[in-house]
Amino acid sequence: MHYSTANLRIHKFSSLQPGPRLIVTGAVHGSETSGTRGIEKVLAELDSGELTILRGSLTLLPVANPLAYSKGERNGDRNLNRNLQPCEQPLDNEDRIANVLCPLLAQHDVLVDLHSFRAQGEPFAMIGPANNADDLEPVRHAELEQALALRLGPRRIVEGWLSTYAVGVQQRLARTKPTERSELLSTHPSYGVGTTEYMRKTGGYAITLECGQHADPDAPGVAYRAIRNTLAHLGLVDETPPPARTDIEFLRLAEVIDRHHPDDQFTRSWSSYDRVAQGDVIGLRHDGSEVRAPREGYIVFPDANAKAGNEWFYFAHPSTRTIT
Ligand SMILES: [Zn+2]
Repeated sequence: MHYSTANLRIHKFSSLQPGPRLIVTGAVHGSETSGTRGIEKVLAELDSGELTILRGSLTLLPVANPLAYSKGERNGDRNLNRNLQPCEQPLDNEDRIANVLCPLLAQHDVLVDLHSFRAQGEPFAMIGPANNADDLEPVRHAELEQALALRLGPRRIVEGWLSTYAVGVQQRLARTKPTERSELLSTHPSYGVGTTEYMRKTGGYAITLECGQHADPDAPGVAYRAIRNTLAHLGLVDETPPPARTDIEFLRLAEVIDRHHPDDQFTRSWSSYDRVAQGDVIGLRHDGSEVRAPREGYIVFPDANAKAGNEWFYFAHPSTRTIT
């Protein structure tokens, strides 16, 4: 399929019967193409008549960031999945996409956003917080989001992204002299708002599905299976809904630890979800001080090449929230 950098290719199937309005997005990050492949496969089944949307509506956006996709890179001009909001004076590719994507998301009830990741590892889903009326990320439909997450396919579910990110931003600002703050990649708590956070802001619910390593041959199948499971679970098609997984590993991102200096080094090459025991040495600061695991848990999103002053890794532990 061809994806022009001049437009967004959006496929919509509106049933004549009422039901949930689902949107599935791929390639929000241009180098993450397993979602695109999974969406294309579903599209081919809809084209052939093998699959029919009987209730509600399905919108497929196989490539949300065509410029990044055409370059085969994560970003076009910048990360589309940060500070996502409509803007009056678009300055770059991602601002222009946001002005089409944000109103599009707002027309839907449910978003499944398909991504992949750099290091080896198993697929995982990221969900929002429990129902709350706080300022940062108010949520009303957590139970619907949880029910879908249990049925997408992957075993591992992660929560706590935006709140952990926001605390990290506050700590970063407190540590950095005002004159040096331009070196930070992000200084606003809502900079962590991407597609799923935007969707929750508009009253819908949303899941980020990380389908596997970028080049994992199984990742497009994970994306495809998640879409088909979602269609059956939401009743958009006539198919037996998938059962909830009962062997879920539910983790909470609890802390983000920044790299302070270019000589801060990890003690080994960590991968996401490597387990650590309390007190394990994760890294050494340039002054020789040790960065230790605050408790038993997991290293998540380690970035050995992080710019000084920015996120080095996240620390996660089992969530105490009940989602089954
Ligand atoms: Zn991504």
